Amino acid sequence: MSVTVRVPAKVNVQLAVGAARPDGFHDLASVFLAVGLYDEVTVAPSPSGLRVTCAGPDAAEVPLDGSNLAARAAEALAARYGRRADVHLHIAKDIPVAGGMAGGSADCAGALLACDALWGTGASRAELLDLCAELGSDVPFSLVGGAALGTGRGERLRELEVGGVFHWVFAVAERGLSTPAVFRVFDRLCEGRRVPEPVASQDVLDALAKGDPDALAASVSNDLQPAALSLFPELAGALAAGRAAGALAAMVSGSGPTTAFLVRDAESAARTAQALRRSGTCRSVRMASGPAPGAALV
Ligand code: ATP
Repeated sequence: MSVTVRVPAKVNVQLAVGAARPDGFHDLASVFLAVGLYDEVTVAPSPSGLRVTCAGPDAAEVPLDGSNLAARAAEALAARYGRRADVHLHIAKDIPVAGGMAGGSADCAGALLACDALWGTGASRAELLDLCAELGSDVPFSLVGGAALGTGRGERLRELEVGGVFHWVFAVAERGLSTPAVFRVFDRLCEGRRVPEPVASQDVLDALAKGDPDALAASVSNDLQPAALSLFPELAGALAAGRAAGALAAMVSGSGPTTAFLVRDAESAARTAQALRRSGTCRSVRMASGPAPGAALV
């Protein structure tokens, strides 16, 4: 008996970052859009105890010990229900690792939902969302999918209406970036100036609600982009290549280093993807559209 859950990646169409709080976290206004790149997490009983395996192009970069976010989810749910996390978790990984697309958070939410189904815990949606928020800032959104505004550390979600399909091209960089390192550079770049409270942009919310790619392109923003570019200056080359290929908007995805290109339709996605592949500015290129559904049993 095994259970498989499919979970999407995300792109932030807006990421507004406030000043560092006393606890080191940052208040965010994060407008998440789930996109159709998926990891699949399969869980099955394991008499020998918790075990993690992973397959996919980036599998070598995924930790297989207790630090894996999927393993942490299984442990957290097991602890909550007073049982042992005796499962084999297999991750079929298609979301770029350390790419700013919340791949680890996706596996975390996927493992939680899969273990919940396997063990028949009967946890409510609210309980699962609470556990997600304890496990990581981006994890609740991986469970919910679609589009949502995240506040607090990004974990307090308000689901958003989306009036159409948005087409994206993603350029995966040669190496990853550590999210905490990007935030540290953000803090350094902010030294000596007042950082405004992060607020959601009404233009972004309206563009999503209308399903209007031109309006969305005119309003996307990412406060972490200067920090990501300062740690990884070569990303400017990918952004320029995507713009030259006609993308409506070019931005770093979350903390990077994946770069995200909003395009008008599937045809322009194919054209932009081709141009990015030829530009030699990235390791691989992916196309996906959003909104995509959140974590779901397969
Ligand atoms: P975010 O967009 O939420 O900031 P990310 O997409 O930049 O995250 P992840 O792919 O989640 O980054 O991986 C970040 C690090 O977390 C990896 O370098 C890896 O060491 C660790 N990690 C732990 N569990 C996983 C997992 N299941 N999949 C990928 N990475 C994991």
